[in-house]
Amino acid sequence: MIDKFLDPILTIAYPRACRVCGGSVESVSYGPACADCWESTRIFTGRESCCSKCGQLIPTGRFDLSSRCSECVEDFYDRAAAAADYHYAARAAVLALKEEPFLSKKVRSLLTGRFDTSGFHAATMIVPVPLSKRRQIERGFNQAELLARALEDHTGIRSSADVLERTAHFAMHRAGMDRKAREGSVNKAFEVKKPKLVREERILLVDDVFTTGSTASACAKTLKASGAAEVNILTLARTPHLI
Ligand SMILES: [Zn+2]
Ligand SMILES: [Zn+2]
Repeated sequence: MIDKFLDPILTIAYPRACRVCGGSVESVSYGPACADCWESTRIFTGRESCCSKCGQLIPTGRFDLSSRCSECVEDFYDRAAAAADYHYAARAAVLALKEEPFLSKKVRSLLTGRFDTSGFHAATMIVPVPLSKRRQIERGFNQAELLARALEDHTGIRSSADVLERTAHFAMHRAGMDRKAREGSVNKAFEVKKPKLVREERILLVDDVFTTGSTASACAKTLKASGAAEVNILTLARTPHLI
């Protein structure tokens, strides 16, 4: 943990360029983006007008009676929440986290702050969305595991990186691949290694970014098939919305 006396020294010793605007990052605690770029980033408070299941923003007046959008009806997770929109500083933070296993103070507080407003407090187990073995070896770490551990520190809820396995890695965002095709490709991509450990558990999945929801849905489907009572997902960011 970088303390407040060391931080200015480190910033002078290792000046970093903001990965969004190219200006200088004022503090190591901001991670890869400067204060202005964080200021421009939309941070979710949990009070937005959004789908009560997938968290997609919906312009007021376009809700049905259940406050649900029509995109996530068939998804297997119960509820999804994200800390920020996937743009500006949040996008830079997600990309930086794929390169370096380091959580800045800013990212840590965004994630734990969003947990506090998420309504996921009843979770009994935190599970990071796994990488395939091959990808994990290439990268050397799983960024979702770092986020899960930060949440474990914050909540005291145990984080278990070994209950879920990614058996295959597909190109999820291949151009021209529609939602159905993506779903088909991830459907059999996850397996529960230790079904006994997830039975009756209320699971909080954790990942860096939520895009279409197909990864979260595939994880939730296999966890529920093994007896999980509930599966919610919290991510650092989510991609801009379809509506
Ligand atoms: Zn900037
Ligand atoms: Zn929805």
